Amino acid sequence: METKQFDVVVIGGGPGGYPAAIKAAQNGKKVALVEAKELGGTCLNRGCIPSKALIADAEMYQNAKNGTKLGILSGSVGFNFAQMVKHKNDVVLKMRKSLEGLIASNQITVVKGYGKFISPKEIKVMGEENVILQTEKTIIATGSEPRYISAFPFDYKKVHDSTSLLAAQSLPKSIVIIGGGVIGCEFASLYANLDVQVTILEMMPRLIPMEDKGVSEFLRKSFQKKSVVIQTEARVAGIDTTEKGVSVRLEQGSPVTADIALVAVGRQLNTTDIGLEKAGVLVQDNGVIQVNEQMETNVPGIYAIGDITSNRWWLAHVATHQGVVAASNAIGIPAHMNYRAIPSVIFTNPEIATVGLNLEDALAQGYQATLGAFPFQALGKAQAAFHTDGFAQIVLDKRTGQILGAQVVGYEASTLIAEMTVAIANELTIECIAETIHAHPTMAEAWLEAALVGMGTPLHLLPKRKT
Ligand SMILES: Cc1cc2nc3c(=O)[nH]c(=O)nc-3n(C[C@H](O)[C@H](O)[C@H](O)COP(=O)(O)OP(=O)(O)OC[C@H]3O[C@@H](n4cnc5c(N)ncnc54)[C@H](O)[C@@H]3O)c2cc1C
Repeated sequence: METKQFDVVVIGGGPGGYPAAIKAAQNGKKVALVEAKELGGTCLNRGCIPSKALIADAEMYQNAKNGTKLGILSGSVGFNFAQMVKHKNDVVLKMRKSLEGLIASNQITVVKGYGKFISPKEIKVMGEENVILQTEKTIIATGSEPRYISAFPFDYKKVHDSTSLLAAQSLPKSIVIIGGGVIGCEFASLYANLDVQVTILEMMPRLIPMEDKGVSEFLRKSFQKKSVVIQTEARVAGIDTTEKGVSVRLEQGSPVTADIALVAVGRQLNTTDIGLEKAGVLVQDNGVIQVNEQMETNVPGIYAIGDITSNRWWLAHVATHQGVVAASNAIGIPAHMNYRAIPSVIFTNPEIATVGLNLEDALAQGYQATLGAFPFQALGKAQAAFHTDGFAQIVLDKRTGQILGAQVVGYEASTLIAEMTVAIANELTIECIAETIHAHPTMAEAWLEAALVGMGTPLHLLPKRKT
């Protein structure tokens, strides 16, 4: 088999791997990027981008339907799902083509095939190309797949995972979603917006259990307004496929029937069959590769990034930042990861965005924490744009005024969270926000007002009554 030499080899071309390859190549290194499927990984091909394209279409449909309240005379409003699928596919294709161009123009060698360590400094690639890559430094970025549960009858027609559902060509009349985490809730919101009857089954006492309680409650209420049925503390015993669709058996209570089921109960990590033992890289039982702040594994010169490095942050932008940190260290530029200010967005309708600590966690960590919260209803822009559902809240340390965390739910939440991310990353205090002039009328004024509430000096909320 042919052997080729590189300074840096990156295994996996997702949002972790390809930025790592670009960073190393920009610094004059000879880089190979090994990819078994398509460049862009889960995020571009089976995750963030296709899901957000469909979510945008469904929101447009809802806005069109609601337009009559604002005086828009649009006649009868409907949608063509096949056209939405085409839009989603076109967006993915266009972005993949431009990524391929970007990789080529950075003079990165793309090796198409499945990469596996055969020694700490050698990776054997099998697939479209069969070659052994010899390298000084390796960055593992093999990502994750939907968790496969052998007891469930996945046929990818009636019983789906997120990958097969994103590829579906038609809409069901009803869907049961097993798992009320981020992916389950995003699909629930998408399907409810397309007038599909949605049931969510969540094992824990509430939806998105890892998020702030108030945020989770807000989501529950907004789902209920859309007639989404939510069953919490619901343990699934099994799924049967029937002539009509699916029947989901619960450990307690009656079975839930629907046309199709989505199983959204987590991801499994692509670390089992990549020859880690040949490289001496240690991996935990759950597939996680342990790394230090420099993203280096227990083997010097071998780095790991993205979904495979943690169970907490399954996010594309975390993978990207880790990729840049790993590549920097691999080429001799010191860098380290800091997880204090990781923004996280759930693209439901309304959107949810969080960063840093919520109040409960801040108190549990020993901070004298308090909240400054402001409802969207009191914002001019929210009223004008007809998006008054939602709120923004800042968690702060009472002693120092330092901003510890923030949560925002509602219109433009995904964009609004950036201000608080900058604030937390730079250890700003609540006064910094209160003293910053925010444009009017904008949704960002919610942060100014939340900061003022946190300081006890609200401008646009009624003062608290003195007792
Ligand atoms: C439905 C859905 C929606 C999502 N939405 C968002 C969102 O809105 N925002 C967000 O931040 N995150 C989102 N995510 C999560 C995000 O997609 C992942 O966190 C991110 O893709 C992880 O990047 P990665 O580089 O670690 O791995 P991946 O993106 O999984 O990429 C890994 C790549 O490695 C390749 N590979 C694996 N093994 C090998 C091998 N041995 N040899 C060669 N190639 C290999 C794979 O083919 C793949 O292309 C979503 C995920 C899903 C499923």
